[in-house]
Amino acid sequence: MKKIAANALEKLFAAAKKDGIDLKAVSGFRSYATQKAIFERNASIKGAAVANKTSARPGQSEHQTGLSMDISSASVGYALEQSFGNTKEGKWLKANAPKYGFIIRYGKGQEKLTGYSYEPWHVRYVGVYIAGEITKQNLTLEQYLQKNQ
Ligand SMILES: [Zn+2]
Repeated sequence: MKKIAANALEKLFAAAKKDGIDLKAVSGFRSYATQKAIFERNASIKGAAVANKTSARPGQSEHQTGLSMDISSASVGYALEQSFGNTKEGKWLKANAPKYGFIIRYGKGQEKLTGYSYEPWHVRYVGVYIAGEITKQNLTLEQYLQKNQ
């Protein structure tokens, strides 16, 4: 992860701990080769159409930017699944991530706009100001960037 995002994540985790919320960083930076392997494995199991919505093609994953992290909790066995969004940890993350510059990148009901399934575990660092604006206005990052070109 890039230093600016890693520092912000550290603050986020410290704040969670203070609130009695146990979060764990599950998956951060991925190399091109790793992303390629993930996509190809998903495509072979689920088919290319499903793989496109649930994993990125190599070169297109946000995990290759060094600004994204997958976060989970013991309550879901540290799995990356949509039920994380209903746990107290997932709810805490959604409510508090913007204070530290992160957004839930692929929101519920935003599938058509982001092109991805709902991922309550995947946060992306965009900085405190932009994270606040995106959250306040209930936008996707795509919509925010389009509005502020
Ligand atoms: Zn992710």
